[in-house]
Amino acid sequence: MVEAQTRKVDRVGRIVIPKEIREALDFCDHKLEMEMLPNNKGIKLFKGKQGAKGGKSLDDFGRIVVPSEYREELKWDENKDISFKQADSFVVLNDNLRVCQFCGNDQHLIEIETNYLCELCLDSGNKKRSERLIAPIDKLIDDYVHRCNQSVSSHSLHQAKDLGENLKTVIESIYVPPSDNGFIESVKKANKQLEKMATQKMFKDAFHTMINQTENTQQAEIYHQMTQFADKKIKKQHDKLIEKIPKLINDDFLKDWKESKEDALASTISSIDLTKELKDEETVIQKAAENLEQIISDKDKNSLATIDAQKQLLNAEKSFVFTYNYLSEVNIDLKSYESQFNKYEKEIEDLKKEINEKFLVNEFKKRQKDLNGKKKHIKAAKKQLSK
Ligand SMILES: [Zn+2]
Repeated sequence: MVEAQTRKVDRVGRIVIPKEIREALDFCDHKLEMEMLPNNKGIKLFKGKQGAKGGKSLDDFGRIVVPSEYREELKWDENKDISFKQADSFVVLNDNLRVCQFCGNDQHLIEIETNYLCELCLDSGNKKRSERLIAPIDKLIDDYVHRCNQSVSSHSLHQAKDLGENLKTVIESIYVPPSDNGFIESVKKANKQLEKMATQKMFKDAFHTMINQTENTQQAEIYHQMTQFADKKIKKQHDKLIEKIPKLINDDFLKDWKESKEDALASTISSIDLTKELKDEETVIQKAAENLEQIISDKDKNSLATIDAQKQLLNAEKSFVFTYNYLSEVNIDLKSYESQFNKYEKEIEDLKKEINEKFLVNEFKKRQKDLNGKKKHIKAAKKQLSK
């Protein structure tokens, strides 16, 4: 933005357009057009469309003639001081300049430092910003609903669960939903079901892999029994999913989101410093990491308390990654968080693997008494699992 400058109207009604403005708006060698602003608030000067007929040109001294009818109406007599305010694609000439920097409007102006912005432009800017913040969430919800509908078939289960966690994190990072928000509650409940199912599937797949990796037939038989236990549970969970998911993730859910969205747009969304959310999440991660370290030093690294602490750390790191991805999608500069992001992304994969392995050992211990086989084979199978 060029600072306001003034030039005088000369005897024949010419005004010098300041050099910086001529250059910035590429006025030289172009036909220019003039327009009176409403309520005699000045003249808007801009480059005419390519090939357009008529228009005015600057003379060799950068001057332009203001038509006499404009001058009469504006009372721009000889020696009148005229100031210039340059916007993106035009300059406004006025003797007392107060126009919106974007549209040239002179009504409902809000002074921002030395410039003016009209409420219309401010509103449309805010609206655009809100839309930009909401668009990725709308997309997440579409994906989530779609994956939930498919979750009864195995391939969508993990995606649905991940999308649900992602959704909850992102929504809570842009606004604080009321505690009775049906929409977040539905995501939580649906995810609980999805997680139960995902865990059993993980058991089945993992024990199946063990069968293939075991040369000892009796030991393989033990793992085979474990896959059968998982299978039974999967069937049960499957029935529950079919029953519960449509009750949670449905048209009411979308209606709840629509309401939440309006709340979010109307209230806090524009005033939140969004990168602060990442800083907060980093603090949560640090605390979870310290807690885990403490627990590992007190207890067995395979204990349930350790697994719980690891899960907490995993969830905190996931929240950071979800928020980071979301913020980068809405074009917020995250350079200073990039290295943490990469670090957490890697740690998440390692943690997931480690937690799953411990889950597997615990599940084996839990089922041990129900297994058919010789003690030594069961023991060997358990030992191989802990490796
Ligand atoms: Zn405006």
